[in-house]
Amino acid sequence: MEDRLQALKTRLGEIQDLNRAAALLGWDQQTYMPPGGAAARAEQLATLQKTAHNWFITDEIGELIEALRADGADWDYDSDEASIVRVVARDYEKARKVPSELVAEFARVSALAFEAWTKAREQADFSMFQPHLEKIVDLNVRLAEALGYEDRLYDPLLDQFEPEMKTAKVTAIFDDLKAELLPLVEAISERIDAVDDSVLHLDYDEQKQWDLGVEIIKNFGFDFTRGRQDKSVHPFTTAFSISDVRLTTRIDTHYLPAALFGSLHECGHGLYEQGVSLSLDRSSLDDGTSLGIHESQSRLWENLVGRSKEFWSHYFPRLQNVFPSQLANVDVEGFYRAINRVEPSFIRVEADEVTYNLHILLRFELENDMLEGKVKIADLPDAWNEKMETYLGILPPDDAQGVLQDIHWSGGMLGYFPTYSLGNLISVQIFDQVKADIPSLADQIAAGKFDELLNWLRENVYQHGRKYTPAELVKRVTGTDLTAANYITYIRSKFSDIYDL
Ligand code: ZN
Repeated sequence: MEDRLQALKTRLGEIQDLNRAAALLGWDQQTYMPPGGAAARAEQLATLQKTAHNWFITDEIGELIEALRADGADWDYDSDEASIVRVVARDYEKARKVPSELVAEFARVSALAFEAWTKAREQADFSMFQPHLEKIVDLNVRLAEALGYEDRLYDPLLDQFEPEMKTAKVTAIFDDLKAELLPLVEAISERIDAVDDSVLHLDYDEQKQWDLGVEIIKNFGFDFTRGRQDKSVHPFTTAFSISDVRLTTRIDTHYLPAALFGSLHECGHGLYEQGVSLSLDRSSLDDGTSLGIHESQSRLWENLVGRSKEFWSHYFPRLQNVFPSQLANVDVEGFYRAINRVEPSFIRVEADEVTYNLHILLRFELENDMLEGKVKIADLPDAWNEKMETYLGILPPDDAQGVLQDIHWSGGMLGYFPTYSLGNLISVQIFDQVKADIPSLADQIAAGKFDELLNWLRENVYQHGRKYTPAELVKRVTGTDLTAANYITYIRSKFSDIYDL
């Protein structure tokens, strides 16, 4: 039994080495690689990914898992050993269902689709991307059928990013959210001038922004001996091991929140990766358990900590010290209101806490309609604009600011978007539990102290890596199932106060 467990761990370690090497190539591609490297890099990544897939789906690994399931029938559910066998068995079953031709076709189609999407967005012309998106939808239907589903085509696609989550559950949660958010956005839209954020759009020195961001994330507890931060066009976080976690950020010298909150956000992802138990190193469980849980941590540090009054009661004097002339005429209350300004806008990634989830609702509904043939791809821009008007009351001036804005579909990914909203909901649900367990949390944040918060999150969330499904983890940590209720209470209270509703 020990031999079999060791044999499985050895194989998983080798496969994880390939995955982490691919992550390094991907990180380099987005940070330092010169444009001339693109073609060779695509081949290198495809080779590594294909090799990792092929090494994983062998009969040998299947037999080891089968035998270990029998050996470990009475192992403790929470132990590393039982968790590795349980989680890897689930990954293995899924991976075996996907034919390698389909994996290869996804890679080919999305490489071309990405190029077409880039050009289509530049020229704001959806028709250039349309034939590629038709192929991508078709491939996703084939993938869903290969993976199998009982209820909705969307289920197995969503499951790739949020294991065990179902479309029906997301729909129910999003309905609750919609019922609350639509009237709230309308009420705020009538008072849009109540908050002035012009102070955020002044000239802010690049190096000073960088240094302040590093200072704050160090204080959050990001360990720079086990990670680093670089610049990229689209900020992201990736890890080459638990002890080597890479954050990226981008700096806009005319918009302070971009780098500031971008760094705090990515740091949240990074703290999760650095907090996984070293006993899970190279096991394939040494990662976040789902995109939704991952996003809950980036949002927790970015929004629930970083956009709170307590946080700025500590950091505003420091910020004023760094940018004395820009911030001479604003006080902490005015700054707090500015960074929390709500305004319906076209671009998801720039959306505030209130309108953000409506962007996700729109994509979730359209993805389902595309897969189930309820909307023709040719009609997608109109369908998009119609929903923008219904949910946000604004009409995109062109496709670049509408249907073409996100990269995900060009990468072949459908089923990904809901994880952003699930992350927002889970962040508040978990944070409410932290507040109950640490009554002095607000005072600690106001004093610039984050160690007790970080330790709580490591203990309850981060150390487990992929041991538990998102649903198991939420239940374990908060005692209840995933719900929109905590988020709704949070949003209502925070923004009624800011907008005097
Ligand atoms: Zn994120």
